[in-house]
Amino acid sequence: MLPKKDQFLLPDGVIYLDGNSLGPLPKGATARAQKVIEDEWGHQLIRAWNTAGWMDLPRKVGDRVARLIGAPAGSVAMGDTLSIKVFQALAAALKMRPDRKVILSDNGNFPSDLYIAEGLIGTIDGGHELRTPAPEDVLDHITDEVAVVMLTQVDYRTGRMHDMAKITKAAHAAGAVMIWDLAHSAGAVPVKMLACQAEFAVGCTYKYLNGGPGAPAFIYIRPDLIEATRPALSGWLGHDAPFDFDLSYRPAMSTERMRVGTPPILQLATLDVALDAWDDVDMQALRAASVALSEQFIQEVLDACPTLKLISPRDSDARGSQVSFAFEHGYAAMQACIDHGVIGDFRAPNVMRFGFTPLYLDAMDVTKAIEIIAHIVNDEVWREAKYQQRSRVT
Ligand SMILES: *Cc1c(COP(=O)(O)O)cnc(C)c1O
Repeated sequence: MLPKKDQFLLPDGVIYLDGNSLGPLPKGATARAQKVIEDEWGHQLIRAWNTAGWMDLPRKVGDRVARLIGAPAGSVAMGDTLSIKVFQALAAALKMRPDRKVILSDNGNFPSDLYIAEGLIGTIDGGHELRTPAPEDVLDHITDEVAVVMLTQVDYRTGRMHDMAKITKAAHAAGAVMIWDLAHSAGAVPVKMLACQAEFAVGCTYKYLNGGPGAPAFIYIRPDLIEATRPALSGWLGHDAPFDFDLSYRPAMSTERMRVGTPPILQLATLDVALDAWDDVDMQALRAASVALSEQFIQEVLDACPTLKLISPRDSDARGSQVSFAFEHGYAAMQACIDHGVIGDFRAPNVMRFGFTPLYLDAMDVTKAIEIIAHIVNDEVWREAKYQQRSRVT
């Protein structure tokens, strides 16, 4: 049943509309972290890799994430950060199409994904090219020159959502490999990874999945391709037998070949606890709740704040689980909202972004948030000098 607010630490007086950027603390995470630190690390010391199940934790957590993205057990590996998982997926995908030189993304993609592509192109130095048309034009750019189509399903700024099945089909028809970044999809919208047949997917776990700051990222490989996937970051924990200490690399015969080095146990443990909240969640029901909250928010903001301009798709089928408005004084207005207990975030140049997370939000929260937002925008509370100061993280 949704919401399940009692499972999260939600500070009094805060309406949290930023779970799309950093999910809140699951209450059980504190005790689990304490146990990992004091009992496992403190007392079991290095034995804990076996006695506390540390070595198996990435696989166990990977299987739990797999269920949430419509992927079978054994197809998801955990570790590192999303940027690194993008690198791994892209490097492996390019190896699958050695005769093609074009990486196709779009200009709504999150910059890190594009930067990683640029860096990899420079490292390979093989004449590759990154193309970034507008998101709505991507289909027209899928030609037989394209080696890899690499897209983020839900746009981090606007919430605009790509049709995964349709684009994957077009990529495959043109002979290209498909990579989906699920950063704003996992835990937000139903994803059918296996059914869509894309070769790779990547994503992070500190956004909608509530794994905590720095929680490990995930990478999915379509099961029939695991053995054909050549890891670019061939670290010892992706080796078939790490403790044989062979001098040459032999990849694990599973998705574990995408592991690199020592897993972040503390973060995996808090993520493991965070995933408990998802065990009985039906993703279709979650999506219905997310759409209801977002629709309520859009309609009421449009009614109450005529100076805010909706930049998210108005059609809920074309939108993920976030809603954004453009406002010239968006930075100051968001600072004022946060100061008044409504936490969303700001994305340059003028975007006020709000995430909807039915695990811990209900219609009453949305109504209260709108009252505060309308006060700040309509009464120009944002004009106060203290809201103009820019912080390092926005
Ligand atoms: C949040 C996000 C990232 C962040 O990458 P990290 O390596 O986890 O910092 C990358 N790509 C997309 C699409 C994102 O939304």
